[in-house]
Amino acid sequence: MTTLQDCRALDANDPLRALRQQFTLPEGVIYLDGNSLGVLPNTAAARVAQAVTAEWGQGLIRSWNSAGWFELPQRLGNKIAQLIGAAPGEVVATDSTSINLYKVLSAALHIAAQDAPARKVIVSERSNFPTDLYIAEALCRERGFRLQLVEPEEITAALTAEVAVLMLTHVNYRTGAMHDMAAVTAAAHAAGTLTVWDLAHSAGAVPVALNAAKADFSIGCGYKYLNGGPGAPAFVWVNPKHADRFWQPLAGWWGHAAPFEFTPDYRPATGISRYLCGTQPILSMTALECGLDTVLAAEPLGGMQALRQKSLALTDLFIKLVEERCAGHGLGLATPREHAQRGSQVCLTRTQGAYAIVQALIARGVIGDFRAGDGKVGKHLDILRFGFTPLYIGFEDVWNAVEHLKQVLETAEWQKAEFNQKHAVT
Ligand SMILES: *Cc1c(COP(=O)(O)O)cnc(C)c1O
Repeated sequence: MTTLQDCRALDANDPLRALRQQFTLPEGVIYLDGNSLGVLPNTAAARVAQAVTAEWGQGLIRSWNSAGWFELPQRLGNKIAQLIGAAPGEVVATDSTSINLYKVLSAALHIAAQDAPARKVIVSERSNFPTDLYIAEALCRERGFRLQLVEPEEITAALTAEVAVLMLTHVNYRTGAMHDMAAVTAAAHAAGTLTVWDLAHSAGAVPVALNAAKADFSIGCGYKYLNGGPGAPAFVWVNPKHADRFWQPLAGWWGHAAPFEFTPDYRPATGISRYLCGTQPILSMTALECGLDTVLAAEPLGGMQALRQKSLALTDLFIKLVEERCAGHGLGLATPREHAQRGSQVCLTRTQGAYAIVQALIARGVIGDFRAGDGKVGKHLDILRFGFTPLYIGFEDVWNAVEHLKQVLETAEWQKAEFNQKHAVT
């Protein structure tokens, strides 16, 4: 049996322990939802205030040049590139994940239409994040393609001669299951299919190697593990071999080769810059940079590999403690036990009461979240989702979170009416 003392010893020996000092965390909160909204970096409030008062207030329009506003998408993109196995100049920070998905999926369909016009299908996972499926569905209608949804174990068999694009989220938002990006990409390419990878639950959470995997297109989120703040700009990467082949459909002036020539005709910038559309939210970009710096602060300590090691230790410990201390309360495990198949979250299932249990935990300061199931067995049941961000979660936090879960279940506290009222955002 693992004890509280064991957990404290793990914290004492944790080489990444000091990284927690970079954040302002509320007193009495164990935050297991950094996979939905990352925490506030200490530097962000002052940095955004400076951007408001000095750069906007005093610099005014001059700040586009003097404060480097105009290059922020590329500068932040280069920081993100370090975390996802991309090269400098291959990533821009811009727009939202949904919008960037529209751009890259559209470009992928253009390439398919030219190179393999008979291929008219996009394959994705039925349990992919809904916005990804909605965007794909809309593009399919627009372009005469069909969206085919499969279970994870059916993906390889689904890659027939009809399939133009395989669109997957690397780490599943509901279950925390992770694909082998290199193997799946190789299988897709062998079948003549392009790949689009959504890194929303991967960037800053697990090591990613886009170039090594020979992926085709990728997008990801700035406000989850990258700690960029609510609604932070997302990012987009395109394999350099595809980047200059097509315009993306939102061909605004920021993606023009020379936006300040103000020519009436569109001439796309070369490389990833053509994936920009219009003027960026500079204040949000400023906050995102503070978030990126908190992840890059791990570089001298071993970077993403070291963060991954700790993340696996945290999720292993959580699974073990839940099984040791909360046995007999109807909890199941939706997240794979195999390290290679697990992201940085653990999802528990329960046939009933999952929402109320999460609410009771939140009232105790243990913040996770709830994701609705479709009533079927196994990973399709309602889910209690707990994200573990190794930058600021410690082993004693894991112990305490499980202790609260145990008490909520043993005392049936979750059955109180107040925990059974559904809010708009779950
Ligand atoms: C969080 C998430 C998104 C979010 O998209 P927004 O455009 O930022 O709302 C998209 N896709 C996946 C897989 C996500 O996990």
